Amino acid sequence: MGEFDCDTIVVGGGISGLAAAMALKKAGQTVRLMESRGYLGGAIHTVRDQGYLIELGPNSLVASGSDPLGDWIPELGLSSRLLTASPLSRNRFVFHRNRLLPVPLTPGAFLTTPLLSFRGKVRLLGEWRVPRELDGFEETVGHFVRRRLGDEVLDVFVDPFVKGVYASDPDMLSLKSAFPALDDMEREHGSLLKGGLSLLMKKRASHGPKGLFSFPSGLSELASACADFLGDDAGIHADVTKWASENGEGFRVGILYDEEEYYLTSRNLILATSAHEAAELLSPAEKAADRLKEIPYAPIAIAYVGVRKEQVAHALDGFGVLFPSASRRKLLGVIFSSSLFPDRAPEGHVLLTVFVGGMTGQKLAYAFDEDLERIVMGELREILGLSGTPDFFRIQRWANAIPQYTLGHGERIRDIWENLPPGLYLAGNYLEGVSVSKAFSSGLSAAKMALWHS
Ligand SMILES: Cc1cc2nc3c(=O)[nH]c(=O)nc-3n(C[C@H](O)[C@H](O)[C@H](O)COP(=O)(O)OP(=O)(O)OC[C@H]3O[C@@H](n4cnc5c(N)ncnc54)[C@H](O)[C@@H]3O)c2cc1C
Repeated sequence: MGEFDCDTIVVGGGISGLAAAMALKKAGQTVRLMESRGYLGGAIHTVRDQGYLIELGPNSLVASGSDPLGDWIPELGLSSRLLTASPLSRNRFVFHRNRLLPVPLTPGAFLTTPLLSFRGKVRLLGEWRVPRELDGFEETVGHFVRRRLGDEVLDVFVDPFVKGVYASDPDMLSLKSAFPALDDMEREHGSLLKGGLSLLMKKRASHGPKGLFSFPSGLSELASACADFLGDDAGIHADVTKWASENGEGFRVGILYDEEEYYLTSRNLILATSAHEAAELLSPAEKAADRLKEIPYAPIAIAYVGVRKEQVAHALDGFGVLFPSASRRKLLGVIFSSSLFPDRAPEGHVLLTVFVGGMTGQKLAYAFDEDLERIVMGELREILGLSGTPDFFRIQRWANAIPQYTLGHGERIRDIWENLPPGLYLAGNYLEGVSVSKAFSSGLSAAKMALWHS
């Protein structure tokens, strides 16, 4: 292949592909992004429905101050659009022994919280004395937390937190891959309490947006700003069906658009899709494809429930509620969406976003709509004191919502990289973390590699 149509083709217009394409464009490369759906953003998708603002995918972004996504906010013209979540969002509830209890945020609240027994509190506070255990086998999150913090902390705090982030079970996930910061803390500081304190100081000193945020018209504003940045370099309804690499030099990529097949050539190719979609496209690179297919994904169903304020007994004065496995509830979590950001529900109404399914409730994620509605409404009646019928009810399902960083994930990813043809790179939420900002970072990493190869 001699001349190429462009330097890099990016497959997938989710946040990881958008980030890769933007970074390459900014560096002066010619780039074409192909997205098979009719919109850009992938999992990021905000819709308005009957006066409610619904996030079909992610609900909010968490910025640590040092995330590359934070650096791109001004570049994308979004600084004045940033919407920080209400201070109420600091309040989180856990459903424990049939009661909604707040997660303690101050030392005083910690001492008096009924969420942990006296023994559990003493065990937690003695964490700094637990010796490091750095050699040997790869630990699950559950094993690590049990060892360092005790069973109660695992059951009451970590188990529901893992459900909230990964829709998973702490005993299924690799600590090193799913929560590398905790692994680093033990390595560097010998204790999570000491490491946590040091991290807190660093966060205070860092710049950029911090905390939980969104935009007035929802997270799709982020995808729209990326789309504007890319202009005609990003195309929708463009399904990449195959590629070939001739003599290891460049790529010839087949694209289905409006039922016609087109071809484009490029020096580099970035696959910014889910692991399974990348595996489909990578079938010529068999080993990498096989390893990609091994990554499990949690299915999730989401119910959006809109009711009049007075139909809910609970004040909804927080981010939402999570459910420890021991509570035996059918829900993964509930976000009090209209308490976090303004204009999410019509005047006098509230919006609840209810998550069901995950790795431990897969059947529920695929329940019939009417069964799901009955289950969700029944649970909300018992948990939040909801009464009457909803003014608004909508269901969204994601068959492959969240990739699971299970034991062996790190090795799997290393194997995949080692078996890719030269010039082909991957981006996506199964590589550097599952959040929007980590998926964004994975796109920037892929762009860096493509630039280096050019
Ligand atoms: C229900 C849910 C709630 C979440 N909540 C949060 C949250 O509150 N905060 C947070 O930070 N993160 C959250 N996440 C995680 C986060 O949204 C995702 O990890 C991230 O958006 C994934 O981005 P991505 O680019 O890796 O993948 P995707 O967004 O899945 O994008 C991949 C894109 O590739 C396209 N594609 C695939 N194959 C092809 C092909 N052959 N040709 C062309 N295009 C193709 C797909 O159509 C898709 O648009 C949530 C995720 C889900 C599902």
